[in-house]
Order: sequence, then C-alpha cells, then structure tokens
Amino acid sequence: MQKLAQLDEGKAKKVFATDDPQLCIVEYKDDATAFNGAKKGTIAGKGVINNCVTNHLMQLLESKGIPTHLVEQLSERETLVKRVQIIPLEVIVRNIAAGSLAKRLGLDEGTKLERPVLEYCYKNDALDDPMVNEYHIMAMRFATQEELAVIANYAFAIDDILTDYLQDVGIELIDFKLEFGKTDDGSIVLADEISPDTCRFWDSKTGTKLDKDRFRRDMGGVEDAYQEIRKRLLGR
Ligand code: UDP
Repeated sequence: MQKLAQLDEGKAKKVFATDDPQLCIVEYKDDATAFNGAKKGTIAGKGVINNCVTNHLMQLLESKGIPTHLVEQLSERETLVKRVQIIPLEVIVRNIAAGSLAKRLGLDEGTKLERPVLEYCYKNDALDDPMVNEYHIMAMRFATQEELAVIANYAFAIDDILTDYLQDVGIELIDFKLEFGKTDDGSIVLADEISPDTCRFWDSKTGTKLDKDRFRRDMGGVEDAYQEIRKRLLGR
C-alpha cells in the first residue's frame, strides 16, 4: 500500500491518500489541543497509544456487529482505513454527568444519569461545534432521518459494548464522542477514533481520571494516564 499525498490534517491526526481510491491512511500525532484549539500542547507517546487503543476497540466493536472504517494497523502511528465522507456531527453519549453537561445543567460531575444521553454537535471549529438536534440535522441535510436512526442505534450499542468491556478492566465509561462516515455505497460506518482523547475514563475504584481531562485541566500525570489505559486494554 503506497502512502500518497496528504489529504487533510486535523488537531490529532493527518490523513493521506493511497494508491487505492477507496482507502486512506491516518497518522496519529502527539499534538494535543483543548477548548477548540485555544490550549495547545504535546502528550509524548499519545499518537502511538491512541492508534493502538482505537484499533483495539474498533476490532471489539466489529466483532459485535458494528461496522467501522478500520482495515488494518500499518505501523505504530499509522492505520489503513476505508475512505469515507465524514458526517459533520460529533455524536456524544453520556452515562455520567461531566464536562459541558455538568456545567450546562448545574450537575455535580459524577452524577449518574438515569439513562444514557445522546447529543449531537455540528463539527465546525469557526462556530465552536454548536449543539444541534435532529431537526437541525435534517434541515441542514447533515444526515437523513434514516441515517440518523442508524447512527443513534450504533451509538447506544457502542455504549453498551464499551461499558461492559471497560468494566472488566476497572474503568468506568463516563462519556465519549463518536464520528461516523459514509462509504461510496452509502453505508454508515464508525470512523475517527475512540481513545482517551475522545472518551472520559475514570478508574472504577478510585475515580481517578485516565483521559484528556488531565491535560485540559492541568492535572499532571497525563502521559501516565494514557499509558495506564493502553496497559489495561492491551496488557502492555
Ligand atoms: N469530546 C471530544 N471532542 C470534542 C468535544 C468533546 O472528543 O470536540 C468528548 C470529550 O472527550 C468527552 C465527551 O466528548 O468524552 C463530552 O465532552 P463535553 O461535551 O463534556 O465537552 P468538554 O467538557 O470536553 O469540552
């Protein structure tokens, strides 16, 4: 597989074309940003960890019937994925109140939600990723009603699968963000990443944060937290 021109560079990853128009290569960086790019830094080794953690979790999801863009990991930082058109939504699932939800509703972080909450944000940095609902999404043609139903079903199924899996390694899944893409034949697959950058992971016993909040909130121990997640999930 030949790595060709760079197609895109985001905050945490670069995307490259390959000699197969249906496939591209993502390359994970150590760059970290928070608050829509207002805070910038580096988390040493993050790209390597997020690459293998994402692929591990996507393989698990595939095995449980969730289609993903994953094809195969190529190197420590590179993964071959299906080329998709990203649906411009951040799909957020929450089990426990934290972050922006805790703030918005005046809840203490750690408050258990009676049932999982699904939120959508329009992926647009210039607008600060505003929250949107199903009506906005359909009116703006970000997705059709049918596509949105598929996305919501996948999002809740992913929550169940990941919550169970993480419980076994002593991690509580607080909330997470997903992105979906559309392949050439119009089918919807899970894309982007599932990592400590995009999930809140708390140690089940101690409540210790093992995710990007340590970077966002200057808590220290950022690299150690990412390594701990890799160790619990991959055993190394
Ligand atoms: N999240 C993300 N990218 C974003 C915004 C949120 O990956 O641009 C993740 C975040 O890591 C958390 C969940 O989505 O696991 C919910 O985030 P929240 O809305 O609480 O925003 P935050 O407090 O991170 O600004």
